[in-house]
Amino acid sequence: MSSVFSLPPTLSGLRNYVDGEFVESSKTFDNVSPLNGRVLAKVHEADEALVDRAVRSARRAVEGAWGRTNVQERAKVLHAVADGIERRFDEFLAAEIADTGRPLEQARSLDVYRGIANFRTFADLGKVAHGDYFETFLPDGTKLLNHTLRKPLGVVASISPWNLPLLSLTWKAAPVLICGNAIVCKPSEETPSSATLLAEVFHEAGVPAGVFNVVHGFGPGSAGEALTRHPGIDAVTFTGESRTGAAIMKAAADGVKDISFELGGKNAAVVFADADFDAAVEGVIRSSFTNSGQVCLCSERVYVERPIFDRFIAAMKARTEALKIGWPDEPGVFMGSLISREHREKVLSYYRLAVEEGATVVTGGGVPVFGDERDDGAFVQPTIWTGLPDTARCMIEEVFGPVCHISPFDSEDEVIRRVNDTAYGLASSVWTTNLSRAHRVTPRLSVGIVWVNTWFSRDLRTPFGGTRLSGIGREGGRYSLDFYSETTNVCIKV
Ligand code: NAD
Repeated sequence: MSSVFSLPPTLSGLRNYVDGEFVESSKTFDNVSPLNGRVLAKVHEADEALVDRAVRSARRAVEGAWGRTNVQERAKVLHAVADGIERRFDEFLAAEIADTGRPLEQARSLDVYRGIANFRTFADLGKVAHGDYFETFLPDGTKLLNHTLRKPLGVVASISPWNLPLLSLTWKAAPVLICGNAIVCKPSEETPSSATLLAEVFHEAGVPAGVFNVVHGFGPGSAGEALTRHPGIDAVTFTGESRTGAAIMKAAADGVKDISFELGGKNAAVVFADADFDAAVEGVIRSSFTNSGQVCLCSERVYVERPIFDRFIAAMKARTEALKIGWPDEPGVFMGSLISREHREKVLSYYRLAVEEGATVVTGGGVPVFGDERDDGAFVQPTIWTGLPDTARCMIEEVFGPVCHISPFDSEDEVIRRVNDTAYGLASSVWTTNLSRAHRVTPRLSVGIVWVNTWFSRDLRTPFGGTRLSGIGREGGRYSLDFYSETTNVCIKV
């Protein structure tokens, strides 16, 4: 098969979208396909002056007509954007696949679908959001009415990663905009295409200049740093690595800007002996290898109760070796490439380190050989390790690739202690048919999200986020609306 995914025609040069215009710049960088290393497009890198123009334009929008729109009007805009993504569905599919090398089916059922759902969900949630209302009585009987007004926060900077580009960006842009703010988005330098296409959709929908801006570039010394340091930004919403979060926090500290951080993880899956065995194997395969392990919620540590440990390892090995790796549109393909050769080098360095640290490689540990142009891409084998102590670096550090380590455990208390023995705290999954056990274990896990007998299922109204190195704050539903709103309490003596 020689299917090389290419970008839609309008994306042959990826421009910034600032103040309602598509803007080129003198400096460009290459957008490279991770499927075969070919250059897909030139990306116009925003310099400090262009970032400044975007922020000023966003400020004008917030202080102008957009900031005075009511929520019904804004909900219509969000639905119009969702309609636009739906109309150009196949172009978004192509953009996501070209940039990331992921399977077509995943891009269709997860990425582009969620892009649409994010706008529709927050359009509808915004309409029913309300502030608090309290009646207060003073000792002399005087009545006071308190009500809380929700107002726009202002100009929000959104910095997003490459692993789920459209999903991450729209997950932020939708609540930002329904609350009446304006946004300046900096997508990852690895995945600039769907953000640019989204700008086209905003443009076609007639959204006023300055409400939605996209600036392209890197982090330090480029558009990312210029944006997070800009004094005209009121808040930064960031998704990415924990150490990048630390750098952004320092930059945001100068202006005492609000921050919302969704960061890395070293998530655990816990399989009890009473679990539905086949469902647990299937669930752990998905939670370890979906999107080639490049989901912040993926499980890199798997703990299996000793009585089923050997059987579980054997089943995982067989299932993993049956996973199809290949072109995004090959029938039955489960895994595409990693995001880049550079990231592959990082993942492979952990494959080597695990062996040095004494791991037994149950399966994988290398790169697949295709004998065609994919050998110039960024593919790796899904990999399972056993035998490492919890103190090994491969058990502590986030790999962000298709890999998991499986360890046996003997008791609830032991596994809870081991799951929590990490600097991260994003998500866990627990596999058991014992309801009492599920209720006993889940509150004791130090994470923001726990799944029982499922993984990755998301209702967009529920809180999302992590503890410790995995993030600051929660988004989703009213948690997003709270973060992206400024509230004013009004107290009236009756
Ligand atoms: P990254 O931190 O390298 O980059 C993320 C974004 O930050 C990019 O747009 C990058 O250009 C920008 N950036 C980098 N340095 C910056 C700086 N100093 N100032 C401003 N911007 C800067 O992350 P990545 O490699 O793109 O993504 C993978 C990471 O994201 C993993 O750690 C993963 O766990 C995490 N992630 C977390 C969640 C979550 O919800 N918790 C979701 C997705 C990804």
